[in-house]
Amino acid sequence: MNPADAIQDKIEIEVQPRARVRSMPEYHPPLGHRDRLRLDFNENTLACSHAVMTALENISAADLTRYPEREPVEALAASHLGLEPRHVVLTNGVDEAIHVLCQAFLDADDEILLPVPTYTMYEIYASSTDATLRKVQAAEDFQFPFIALLDVINPKTKIIAIANPNSPTGTIATREQILAIAQAAPQAIVLVDEAYFHFHGGTVIDCIGIVPNLVVARTFSKAYGLAGLRLGLLAGPEPLLAWVRRVLSPYSVNSIALVALTAALADQSYLDWYVHQVKQARADFLVGLRQLGLQFWPTQANFVLVNIGSEHKQFVAWMREHAILVRDRSADPGCEGCVRITIGTPEQMRGALSAVESFRKFQSSGASR
Ligand code: PMP
Repeated sequence: MNPADAIQDKIEIEVQPRARVRSMPEYHPPLGHRDRLRLDFNENTLACSHAVMTALENISAADLTRYPEREPVEALAASHLGLEPRHVVLTNGVDEAIHVLCQAFLDADDEILLPVPTYTMYEIYASSTDATLRKVQAAEDFQFPFIALLDVINPKTKIIAIANPNSPTGTIATREQILAIAQAAPQAIVLVDEAYFHFHGGTVIDCIGIVPNLVVARTFSKAYGLAGLRLGLLAGPEPLLAWVRRVLSPYSVNSIALVALTAALADQSYLDWYVHQVKQARADFLVGLRQLGLQFWPTQANFVLVNIGSEHKQFVAWMREHAILVRDRSADPGCEGCVRITIGTPEQMRGALSAVESFRKFQSSGASR
């Protein structure tokens, strides 16, 4: 035991957090020992662009003495997306964007609406506010629960968070559905989280500034391969972003991330190449899963949700023994027995498929029971 722990054990702490924080669920992403094939967090499984590494190597010691200035890079990101700079704010990952939206917009009488299963952090950040969380369960096909969602919209609805493509299912909401929801809830922010946009191609970002309550989030953690630098953005109407900026820490995007983003945006060919690799690998991997008789859901993202059944835990352990990390999602609502597998390059996925195949053989031999 280290001395600090020993001291802590003896301290009696009287200070209590807010009641809300006491009831917040804990979230510990299962990181650690990830020096294997990382098919567990939907990251880029290879590397970011060389141009980014070159730009990082050129950062001087003097550069690091300055506070980061995000506005010029915000303008670059905006122009890359065909938007005005006033419609874009950079954040410390999309996670910060979600956090800040919850802090800026959720009051005690408000409701946040989530189609589930979906990305865990919406619930975590919402639960740090006094608002009520309302979940709408998707049916077994995991299609976007459009009608059910429309049905529960009410005057208290303040945020509707839609991951598109959704995680962990890989399914999508159509543009028409999203716009109909935005129209049905003019008092609410409709957050369309396009973290996996590149692997799908559909977007509503062109509606920014036209639809008054639409906000779109994009991350640089996935296709761009910059998860470690924590970079995301929110696109939305200027008056809404003005509230976001009040809550946002002015320096939450650091200067190294800003340098990397500038280089990453300029290297479209790397992005196109990586996305092409994943799409190719995804097509082949899904064919392989089907041949192995496994149930999975059609996916538009860089991952696939697979129903392994009651042996999902053994499956995750088996893959780990084969130096491949996958993510057990069986505790997600409606996902019993399901495991999410990130799609990497064709070569990586050939390796993953052969590990899945060997598990199936092991399973059918009865040895797993
Ligand atoms: N949105 C969704 C739907 C995600 O799956 C993730 C990452 N797992 C994020 C946002 C978080 O993105 P970032 O790394 O930019 O915080």
